[in-house]
Amino acid sequence: MRITNGHNLRIAVQNDGRLTSRSLELLRGIGLEFEEHERRLFARCRNADVELLFIRDDDIPEYVHDGVADLGIVGRNVVIEQGSRVEELESLGFGFCTLALAVPREDAARTPRDLDGRRIATTHPAALRHYLDREGIDARVVEIRGAAEVAPALDVADAICDLVSTGTTLRMNDLRRLGDVFESEAVLVANPATLLDRERAALVERLRVRLRGLLVARHMKYVTLNAPRCALPRIQEILPGMKSPTVVPLAEEGMVALHAAVEEEVFWEVMERIKEAGGSEILVLPVEKVMR
Ligand code: ATP
Ligand code: ZN
Repeated sequence: MRITNGHNLRIAVQNDGRLTSRSLELLRGIGLEFEEHERRLFARCRNADVELLFIRDDDIPEYVHDGVADLGIVGRNVVIEQGSRVEELESLGFGFCTLALAVPREDAARTPRDLDGRRIATTHPAALRHYLDREGIDARVVEIRGAAEVAPALDVADAICDLVSTGTTLRMNDLRRLGDVFESEAVLVANPATLLDRERAALVERLRVRLRGLLVARHMKYVTLNAPRCALPRIQEILPGMKSPTVVPLAEEGMVALHAAVEEEVFWEVMERIKEAGGSEILVLPVEKVMR
């Protein structure tokens, strides 16, 4: 079925960077069909009144705020840095990184407080300023563009405040992590006026329900198993989050098959206990999407 109500929705996505491929994968996952964007500014969805706008990630909060786009997928760090008044609708579970403080390995500083009176280079000046004020650290913020990690070597600053994910870049530049300012991930943001427009808000809500279905599914497994009927009460107690699992009688007298969804985090523990309680032939399948 076409997702359409005659009201165009525009979604801003990073054109070429760390968030691009996961953003497109997510949009395809919620059923939007579109061509690869290759160097084009727009892509129209074949099956929905949705248009994708490919721009630099730094422009996304502003464009969404101004209504050039209705929705955007961007790092929370960018929204925080720009202080944009956009609505954050969902955390998207990718693009994880931390805005962290670091110093050259041999530096005497042991905690962020030791940066008092010193210079910190960053591409996130507003977020850093806010953090320093909150923590009562009297350091000088040196705003730079591009690679912060080289600033100490160039004596532009004594420390840096930069986004890190694995920490490889810090290690490669002989830097040591001193403390964290905040954690970030990709988020779905919306233009506040779009959410007040009845027709468009309805379309946003539909996409959002699908999105949650996709995100929840990532943490779930579908489990089928066989068990003696008498073990059922015990097994139902063990299976968390399932109000009523599906129970099917088997050809073998006194045996049943049970189907249930299980959260991935507690998965192994749950499986072990079910086996102890009499479960057998336990099959585990991935869950692609969930609609509740
Ligand atoms: P653009 O050309 O669009 O301005 P960019 O160089 O500013 O790109 P990327 O490096 O592609 O941006 O990063 C985009 C987002 O990815 C960041 O804003 C952040 O939310 C996230 N991210 C995840 N891990 C990292 C990391 N290790 N370093 C930087 N950003 C990261
Ligand atoms: Zn950028």
